[in-house]
Amino acid sequence: MKKETQLIHAGRSKKWTGSAVNPPLVRASTIVFDTMQELKDATKQRGNRVPFYGRRGTQTHFAFQEAMCELEGGAGCALYPCGAAAISGALLSFLKQGDHLLMVDTAYEPTRGLCDKILAGLGITTTYYDPMVGAEIEQLIQPNTKVIFLESPGSLTMEVQDIPAICQVAKAHNIITILDNTWASPILCRPFELGVDIAIQAATKYIIGHSDVMLGTATATSACWPTLREHSYLLGYCASADDVYAASRGLRTLSVRLKQHEQNALIIAKWLAARPEVEAIRHPAFEDSPGHAFFRRDFSGSNGLFSFILKQGSSEQVQAFIEGMQHFKMGFSWGGYESLITATMNVQALRTVTSWPYSGPLIRLHIGLENPDDLIDDLAQAFARFAMR
Ligand SMILES: *Cc1c(COP(=O)(O)O)cnc(C)c1O
Repeated sequence: MKKETQLIHAGRSKKWTGSAVNPPLVRASTIVFDTMQELKDATKQRGNRVPFYGRRGTQTHFAFQEAMCELEGGAGCALYPCGAAAISGALLSFLKQGDHLLMVDTAYEPTRGLCDKILAGLGITTTYYDPMVGAEIEQLIQPNTKVIFLESPGSLTMEVQDIPAICQVAKAHNIITILDNTWASPILCRPFELGVDIAIQAATKYIIGHSDVMLGTATATSACWPTLREHSYLLGYCASADDVYAASRGLRTLSVRLKQHEQNALIIAKWLAARPEVEAIRHPAFEDSPGHAFFRRDFSGSNGLFSFILKQGSSEQVQAFIEGMQHFKMGFSWGGYESLITATMNVQALRTVTSWPYSGPLIRLHIGLENPDDLIDDLAQAFARFAMR
């Protein structure tokens, strides 16, 4: 089945939908049983998509979890109130006091904060590694290394990692690999075919797609699923049925939205590449973007998120660029239907083991579903404001 068709069918087995097109919205804390035997059976089956207690989920959750496994390829999917919780939930499931973690240097900023501020306090040490390290990661492995965490492409700077090379080394040393797969959404990359043990989605982004719900998922291999499921359950992670319903609905249009985001973003990235003020484009589909060959090998397409670096620019000039935009709104997150813009003056301050090669400011764009001509007009006016300062 092709991806587009799979998105239509995922999680919509009759078992969940009955005679309706969509899985039902079932809100519940308590699940009630008629007989002791029923309660006993449910207790035995809890965790296997059987109603037991609200925190374990209802039919709404089970349908979405099944959909995520069909799309991403794992054996089970844990749900979290947001993407950051999926990251902490997955890491805390496989790390304990005295363990060591290898974390990519280009990780999403709160992921780094979790390592430095929370895991460190629990006696879990972190070594950051260059996203382009590949199989050389073997040299960073310590006897107590339990997890290698990947995020590809990297946050803001978009380096695409050699996921299979890193996973192969990890397997040889019995180390769990966790990939923040948010940029690819569940359809642009097949993490389990590349050797990953756990794939994370900030469903907040493209799965939800409308900037109105926060949700996280972690999908795991059959070997990792029981531990991930039980540890996340004991940590108290769960997600509301309403939010999960919105995620199931978001899946149906994911492919058409992504294609439009991709097309619009490529038009705008190419326009930016020709501007004299622009030093470089960081977009995985661009040949000179780091890891482009891995992108071509492992991904089936791109989306609306990329960055560009200005040759130079004061903070006043960047402020003039970003303020007064008509279509691009200033704000964090991405993956909704609308265009967004943020600026980072000092990328190096976010890295500890890699050196950032540019001195000018970095601007990250999320290209929405507007007509790209309007977005280009908006950016052209921004360059005019930039030049006047
Ligand atoms: C947004 C984001 C997250 C966190 O997701 P939230 O739902 O905002 O907690 C994690 N990883 C990446 C790559 C993200 O872009």
